[in-house]
Amino acid sequence: MSTYGRYQLALERGQGCRVWDTQGKEYLDFVAGIATCTLGHSHPAMVEAVTRQIQKLHHVSNLYYIPEQGELAKWLVKHSCADRVFFCNSGAEANEAAIKLARKYAHTVLKIDHPIILTAQSSFHGRTLATVTATAQPKYQKYFDPLVPGFQYVPYNDISAVEAAIGELDEGDYGVGAILIEPLQGEGGVRPGDVSYFRKLRQICSETGVLLIFDEVQVGMGRSGKLWGYEHLGVEPDIFTSAKGLGGGIPIGAMLAKRFCDVFQPGEHASTFGGNPFATGVALAVCETIEKENILANVEARGEQLRAGLKLIAAKYPQYIRDIRGWGLINGMELHENIELTASDIVNAAIKAGLLLVPAGVKVVRFVPPLIVTEAEINLALEILDSVLATLTQVPNTH
Ligand SMILES: *Cc1c(COP(=O)(O)O)cnc(C)c1O
Repeated sequence: MSTYGRYQLALERGQGCRVWDTQGKEYLDFVAGIATCTLGHSHPAMVEAVTRQIQKLHHVSNLYYIPEQGELAKWLVKHSCADRVFFCNSGAEANEAAIKLARKYAHTVLKIDHPIILTAQSSFHGRTLATVTATAQPKYQKYFDPLVPGFQYVPYNDISAVEAAIGELDEGDYGVGAILIEPLQGEGGVRPGDVSYFRKLRQICSETGVLLIFDEVQVGMGRSGKLWGYEHLGVEPDIFTSAKGLGGGIPIGAMLAKRFCDVFQPGEHASTFGGNPFATGVALAVCETIEKENILANVEARGEQLRAGLKLIAAKYPQYIRDIRGWGLINGMELHENIELTASDIVNAAIKAGLLLVPAGVKVVRFVPPLIVTEAEINLALEILDSVLATLTQVPNTH
């Protein structure tokens, strides 16, 4: 179905941070399958794990214990603030699981008959009905009403709005049961959370019993230079979700929680494919490679290099570029509102010049290369971007 407005490009092969189209043309890949291919393309550790799992055992269902699933859960618990993991197949599904867990917790522990989940404006949490309702952006919700009840929106990085909402909603059978929020908003324009805002959120949640849920689907699994986005904010969530980078590009999602909010009983939530030997065996190889090859150090160094280069470029085109921001290897270049040039214009021109980029909204160009990107590849991407901007800005407000 025509669910995507696609670029005129068909890709058939990849190696590291490079991909080739069906005509044999090479591209530097700064999209990485939308922040998923953390180890790039055809990484030997992934080739080995995929081959091993398909030869050994790939799927049996969750009627039985799955050793790879246990090992991956153990790795995630050891490397995060969580004690429990539920596996599924995508980010939206992980958030659905978190929403269900939070609702059950609100009903059974907080004794709220009509629990409300607060989410932030310009957020992105997925495309299923509940997660698109949680996604507080009208452009994703148009035509899909009636939406799922039980959500209310607050501006991002604005603590007084959260305090007001909790105060207002705490009436009769209604009450705020959870806050679902991204530590850094990805699709909404690469907007990092404020440390002071998130500290206050944590404090409010701890005082009121409201669950604090972080959507780490895009920013997590090392993309920010730390394993989890919440490590940048100095606070721990009660529940968080992971997906995109978790399997290095094979489909897997996870909902992780502290022990105290693990209120699910057998039969209350499930997934046929979730956590199968194939997906968890490969994801475990990705996790172990991130650790063994010290990839977080590369993310931090290459991220600083990229932001420094982008800031130099921004200084050359101050009438076009408004801001450079991000953490590690999730970065955004924001264009001014009052000019015609859009992120799409830059992405289209960059593709022609051999660099894959993706917008995050109308005015932000997003840079999410594989986490193994090299110093030379960052320099090459900056060179291509600079030449693309030189051409696009020759005619003022070009289109
Ligand atoms: C991509 C994304 C999702 C949805 O993930 P899918 O795997 O596409 O369902 C949810 N939350 C955030 C923050 C994302 O970036």
